[in-house]
Amino acid sequence: MELNTLWKTALEKLKVKTGDNTYETWFSETKLCDLKKNEDEKVYTAQIGCKNSYVASGIDHRYHSMVKKVLEEALESKVEIAFLVKPELANRKTKFEASAPLFADKKPSADIAVVAKKAGLNPKYTFDRFIVGSANRLAHAAAMAVSENPGNAYNPLFIYGGVGLGKTHLLQAIGNQALFNNSEAKVLYSPAEPFVTDLIQGIRDQSMVKFREKYRQLDILILDDIQFISGKESSQEEFFNTFNTLYQSGKQIVVASDRPPAEISKLEDRIKSRLEGGLVADMQTPDFEMRMAILKKKAEEQNYPFPEAALITIAEEVKTNIRELEGTLMTVAVNAESSGNPVSVGMIRDILKKTRGALTARVKPESIIDCVSEYFGVPKEDITGRGRTAEVAYARQVAMYLMKEMLNIPLKKIASAVRRGDHTTVIHACRKIENAIKSDQQLRQKIEDIRLSLQSRANQEENESKK
Ligand code: ADP
Ligand code: MG
Repeated sequence: MELNTLWKTALEKLKVKTGDNTYETWFSETKLCDLKKNEDEKVYTAQIGCKNSYVASGIDHRYHSMVKKVLEEALESKVEIAFLVKPELANRKTKFEASAPLFADKKPSADIAVVAKKAGLNPKYTFDRFIVGSANRLAHAAAMAVSENPGNAYNPLFIYGGVGLGKTHLLQAIGNQALFNNSEAKVLYSPAEPFVTDLIQGIRDQSMVKFREKYRQLDILILDDIQFISGKESSQEEFFNTFNTLYQSGKQIVVASDRPPAEISKLEDRIKSRLEGGLVADMQTPDFEMRMAILKKKAEEQNYPFPEAALITIAEEVKTNIRELEGTLMTVAVNAESSGNPVSVGMIRDILKKTRGALTARVKPESIIDCVSEYFGVPKEDITGRGRTAEVAYARQVAMYLMKEMLNIPLKKIASAVRRGDHTTVIHACRKIENAIKSDQQLRQKIEDIRLSLQSRANQEENESKK
């Protein structure tokens, strides 16, 4: 086959798979420059030219396996691919004849939307809406590989990271992409909580057969926030068995959590070791460039004209949580619309001050104890009790520290929240944590995670009370 004809065929497929915008950004100015068969006549090597290095590395990161697969299908042979920079390709778009698209049957149909919904998937969480940076590169690449090759790439895939860093988005993107590639695939995305509720229901109604049918016949099981099953014995037992059944028949398992398997307290060792048996990838907080890229993408999606200076201000102010980044952008747009004032740096600062202040104001000492207890797996009664084991004392100190940092209340109140008579205990605890934070990056991240989950809890409560 002639190179240009082959590449045109491949591009048509890629256009259908990725959608017009993505296609325009990445593929429209590419060319198949070279195709060789290796000596053993088994593998082709394809060289694909891109107009600049940004596009070449972008495609390589995001669409390597997709391009490879499309070429392999067209050539009915194994293909290795490489992307090269060919500046002369700029403004040289591949033109398609106005014929009926070759692969119209591969278009996402209304049926897929229905199937996706049943699978617990939200269509907005796709790979092409996900910004990749150094903070999430490995997790993203692994997720792409899994969606293209379920059961064969990394199994299980375990993704962990703090609140609002894109775990759910990535998990859902796997499901959406897998269904897009194969609408017959049996995919289920579920947070761990409904899994547990289903299980309890199954036990209560003696309908475990139904439960097992639902979870054990899947091709891809995606379980979010798995830390939720810690300490729950029958759920762990059932998860372990579900895991084994799926794994042994080559089915894909994807799991996310706020921390790595080894650090999930009250999780059976046999489960930890299963979860560690595939690929464990973490998601870090985004750097400034990535925050800007995310804001630009979200601004584009909202179709609202944000000045660059506004985006920079938000990216500088909101550092640790992509959900907050997105939320701020939205609030700013709404505020500008309703007030009739243009978006300005001052407006953004005001909004941030208000939303952050209001959220913190609603956090109560008891919720801090709740969150710390949940996070460290130490019972609440121990935090407010007499216990002196290192684990308990540590959790208690973190709770006191967070109360001092987040709540505007006297030290005496903090002391009494943890049932301590003397406020010097609070001073001592806070000093200890402050010092530890200086050298302990992990502790810093843990405290940040707890702070964020307190805020998002307050946020949820606020939203619910508005309903
Ligand atoms: P998590 O599950 O880790 O708490 P989510 O996946 O719910 O976080 O992400 C929170 C919000 O931030 C979502 O609206 C998601 O679309 C967005 N988001 C997170 N990471 C990215 C990213 N890399 N690119 C684009 N949007 C992102
Ligand atoms: Mg999530």
